[in-house]
Amino acid sequence: MIDILEFTLEHLIQTFDKDYGKGRFHAQALFRDIFKQGNTHFLLSPEFLDSPRFARALAGKVSVNPGEVVKTFAEGELTKFITRLEDGLEIESVIIPMTRHNTLCVSSQVGCKMGCKFCETGRMGFKRNLRISEITGQIYNARHTLKKDIKNIVFMGMGEPLDNFDNLIGAIQVMNEQQGFDIALRHMTLSTVGLVPGIERLAKLAMPGLRLAISINAPNDTIRSRLMPINKTLPLARLKKSLTNFPLGKRGVFLFEYILIKGLNDSPAHAALLADFIYPLPVRLNLIAYNPVQGLDYESPSDEQMHEFADLLSARGIMVIKRWSRGRSVAAGCGQLGRNV
Ligand code: SF4
Repeated sequence: MIDILEFTLEHLIQTFDKDYGKGRFHAQALFRDIFKQGNTHFLLSPEFLDSPRFARALAGKVSVNPGEVVKTFAEGELTKFITRLEDGLEIESVIIPMTRHNTLCVSSQVGCKMGCKFCETGRMGFKRNLRISEITGQIYNARHTLKKDIKNIVFMGMGEPLDNFDNLIGAIQVMNEQQGFDIALRHMTLSTVGLVPGIERLAKLAMPGLRLAISINAPNDTIRSRLMPINKTLPLARLKKSLTNFPLGKRGVFLFEYILIKGLNDSPAHAALLADFIYPLPVRLNLIAYNPVQGLDYESPSDEQMHEFADLLSARGIMVIKRWSRGRSVAAGCGQLGRNV
């Protein structure tokens, strides 16, 4: 069985060649129909009608299985959708409208092992890794089931992407395929809590342009270990070393995400420590106002605190973008996936 959402064009050409003695012509037709048009009746396209023996041999052998979109929630232009997988488990994805196009926030696991204290998904625990086709199926459904024009991918949904390394890289390759989903690497952002072994593996792969985001959230190990248990085994110094050695490429920057939580990581002293940690890494920092999560005691910062914290970092030469999360009312803000409302 050819699980097509796991295939790059070259992989399909090789498979057609090996198994059927056919090649690029039919593979390109199939890619055009399925990936570009969302047309699963590709055997009725001219290329296959002209090759009836091959079409008969292929019948029933190609599966397009992105999972079933069972629910969507909207807040203005933002859409969260829930996909039911073959085994009945569900994952969430979010379509975020940007100025000229949409960004799709993709899940990489069902649940998550990382247990970040501010995160709804973390409280769900870990169920399993997503297969390549379950990751790429999210863009298939966003484009062809929900008819949204997706140009950017952020791996910031449920799960820690680098904890599902091989399938993540496979999915990136499928999404990057020009004759398929055609998402440029520079339009993909992978967000991690700082799984150093994964960052080091990624550093060895030639993936120029792929953007790396680090969920940092604290200026020192004490606070970070409280918020993010991973920091106990992979503290900030190790994380910084792996980033220092990471081949960013010319003009590349790391994206840092810092969720500002009232009274916890929001003081001027914290801003100074954070700037010390960042120096001399090239970083663009997203400062995100904490989204309240039911059952957790953390509080959102005031607007003044957001401005003050951002100004202190800017004064140290760090590019800061302030974000008041969209999607609060549908629980689709950062760290809120996993709550089906
Ligand atoms: S923030 Fe990300 S890594 Fe942390 S628990 Fe939530 S989903 Fe997992």
